[in-house]
Amino acid sequence: MKTLDPEAIRGVVEEVLARLGPGKPAAPAAPAAPAAPSAPSAPSAPSVAAAGGGGSGGRHGVFGCPDRAAEAAHEAFLRLKKLGVDGRRKVVDIVKSLCVANSEGWGKYELDETRIGRLDHKIEKLQIIRHVPGVEWLRPDALSGDAGITLEEYAPFGVIGAILPVTHSIPTLSGNVVNMVAAGNAVLFNPHPGGARSAALAVRAYNEAIEREVGIDNLVCTVAEPTLESFGQLCRNPLVPLLAVTGGPGVVKAAMQSGKRAICAGPGNPVVVVDETANLAKAAKHVVQGAAYDNNLLCVGEKAVFVLAAVFDRFMDELGQAGAVRLDARALERLAAAAFAPAKGEGAHPVVNRELIGKDPGVLARHAGTGIPAGTQLLFAETGADHAFVQAEQMMPMLPVVRVPDFETAVREARRAEHGFRHSAILHSMNVEHMTFMGREMDTTIFIKNGPCVAGLGLGGEGYLSYSIATTTGEGVTTPKTFTRIRRCVMVENLRIV
Ligand code: NAD
Repeated sequence: MKTLDPEAIRGVVEEVLARLGPGKPAAPAAPAAPAAPSAPSAPSAPSVAAAGGGGSGGRHGVFGCPDRAAEAAHEAFLRLKKLGVDGRRKVVDIVKSLCVANSEGWGKYELDETRIGRLDHKIEKLQIIRHVPGVEWLRPDALSGDAGITLEEYAPFGVIGAILPVTHSIPTLSGNVVNMVAAGNAVLFNPHPGGARSAALAVRAYNEAIEREVGIDNLVCTVAEPTLESFGQLCRNPLVPLLAVTGGPGVVKAAMQSGKRAICAGPGNPVVVVDETANLAKAAKHVVQGAAYDNNLLCVGEKAVFVLAAVFDRFMDELGQAGAVRLDARALERLAAAAFAPAKGEGAHPVVNRELIGKDPGVLARHAGTGIPAGTQLLFAETGADHAFVQAEQMMPMLPVVRVPDFETAVREARRAEHGFRHSAILHSMNVEHMTFMGREMDTTIFIKNGPCVAGLGLGGEGYLSYSIATTTGEGVTTPKTFTRIRRCVMVENLRIV
């Protein structure tokens, strides 16, 4: 008699429960016309069944056990290999079209789960996935000479273990999948616990469609209930040769200590300098656009501005004209008392109150003890260079603006506030020498002149998009090539035909 696999039974039961369970979003029917998921009814009490996972096994990519997930992802990687570049291209197309088609439902779901950021931008971050490069990015390099020809090709690693931030759970997941699968890999995510249900929702939808259209399940896997222990298991698993981390300093440190190669898109504290040659109205507009985006959750988002004294007052007026609302010194200090705990130890940064990260300006204004007009996108205030709002990566729609006597001081203070993260810096200026000086001094991965932060990610500036900017380990704005091994194929003497 044929024996039944208990894991398979568990997977089927969990899937049925997940489909029947309260608050479970409907699975998209097809990439071309996916159904929008409904919002979770109780985001504060996520159930594993509702997320579509549980037990140690899993189906359609949602697993309780990271080791089982790694095995399933490895099997999927081997099957993808057989389908060649065309198979990868199909998967990339499926992920991009599902991400766009579900942007409203998934954006709302993620906002309901994480309770940070803004709905319009949560949706937009999913729609812009079309700017993430896919298989077209991978072109081999060739050498040809008297000794023959040599080809260098970009080969996959296998299963990549990827860590997601709570600030952009589905966008980072989807952008990572496009890059990593385009390069021929499978992916296993350990998402942030606060965004794990959103990650599971997208993973399930992607796998259902990939299985239907390409015949592979579990090419994209996620841990249903991620913990530090599941992160450790993922790091130790021999089927996972590479880690890709998007997050803050704690996880970057942990990944780099894991003994595995880690590509780390780490923290930032993007700084802005405005000099006396800048177009102040345009600069203010760009600063408001970038700092207000998703309530300042972007890792590239403008976090502190240093303005030359000669144009300081006029720039502050322009920020008001651009729709931001100024806090006075007393309101600022009331807000700061709620937003930060004092730094622990010399040289430490103030500790951000996570309860206020990514909250609406109205919520911050209440803590500041002041009222603001409905629809206000951003608060701003004059601060000193040492203020917690300047020194901490605060991720709130409250922009500190520091008055500085001259350009050298502005760059020196900006550099101090960036803390050597080498993430992003922005200059508003028409002075080319200033641009060169600041670019060299800051030494950041992204350096933007005369635009909002998002211009550095191909949105209003030339270039392409990724939600993972490998700052700490230096790979830069990630692409499919980032997630490859270079392999060399050499033909001696022959095949040079010219
Ligand atoms: P976070 O560091 O709190 O969490 C990120 C991920 O790491 C989560 O999955 C979390 O569960 C995990 N984690 C945290 N500490 C860990 C540890 N010690 N060991 C193992 N795993 C751990 O960050 P967040 O609040 O989710 O996201 C915001 C941070 O991410 C900011 O610092 C931001 O700048 C950064 N970020 C960087 C980029 C980039 O491209 N460079 C993009 C987005 C976000």
